[in-house]
Amino acid sequence: MTEAAIIDGKAFAARLRQTIAADVAGLKAEHGLTPGLAVVLVGEDPASQVYVRSKGEQTLEAGMHSETHRLPAETSQAELLALVERLNSDPAVHGVLVQFPVPDHISQAAVVAAISPDKDVDGLTVANAGRLASGLPALTPCTPTGCMMLLRDQLGTLSGKRAVVIGRSNLMGKPMAQLLLAADCTVTIAHSRTHDLPAVVREADIVVAAVGRAQMVKADWVKPGAVVIDVGINRIPKDDGKTRLVGDVAFDEVKAVASAITPVPGGVGPMTIACLLANTVLAAKRLNGIGE
Ligand code: NAP
Repeated sequence: MTEAAIIDGKAFAARLRQTIAADVAGLKAEHGLTPGLAVVLVGEDPASQVYVRSKGEQTLEAGMHSETHRLPAETSQAELLALVERLNSDPAVHGVLVQFPVPDHISQAAVVAAISPDKDVDGLTVANAGRLASGLPALTPCTPTGCMMLLRDQLGTLSGKRAVVIGRSNLMGKPMAQLLLAADCTVTIAHSRTHDLPAVVREADIVVAAVGRAQMVKADWVKPGAVVIDVGINRIPKDDGKTRLVGDVAFDEVKAVASAITPVPGGVGPMTIACLLANTVLAAKRLNGIGE
């Protein structure tokens, strides 16, 4: 068997951002509409600062309106919810994203509930999760949406494929499973209580690993020819005392079995912000009654 094709999420995301920029230019020219994304960061978590900066930069590069609200860690929940409320009613803003994690004294669920479902570009509100599960138009979470684009690009139709999603978080596993189901896959969701996980994964034509455990999925878990999407981001120590990023899949061994696989880094990761921009454009169109 030949080695797996390496799915280049970085290149795919760059092409997607170009398409989005062209779409934005058209919206400006034809409708005088500039899609806008507001990102809110509470506190100084270093990883969150990097994500928020990238989101702002890529939003501007796509020709969109970008605003970043940096609030001190001691901001009260009431103050944060008041800002979200203001952004919900700001006509220049079509997407509202609060970067998680928020400090412990703020309820993440309360923040999500405060975001207008029409501007919920992270797809986390109960309204959007329910719409996705009901087969209604929704704003869907960015990372699973990006995984679906990579899968469609690789496989064409997904209809009838057996898919196993490892992980059942609201952010990743559950919406991923719903999107695969909507694409007519036969879907299994596995999690920490699943019995004989390797045997479950071996059934799959499509494996999506969203666990957060370094290199957990081994070659003998994977059916020859399966497509493997690795969502995990884990840091492991290197010999020189530094760290390196790895996914939830043992990439070097699984690539000898799979037909295609996403690397970490450079696979799923770059798709997330590109899909955030796509969701913001979609939200802007829907809020302004512009057909897709
Ligand atoms: P999470 O909320 O911690 O969920 C992890 C899931 O994995 C849970 O459903 C858990 O099962 C399951 N799990 C844990 N240990 C397991 C085991 N030994 N066997 C089978 N299932 C197990 O994590 P998440 O937010 O979904 O993220 C998952 C990974 O994706 C993380 O590495 C995260 O950094 C990464 N991620 C990347 C991106 C991106 O690329 N942009 C975006 C989002 C997430 P239980 O429910 O039973 O506990």
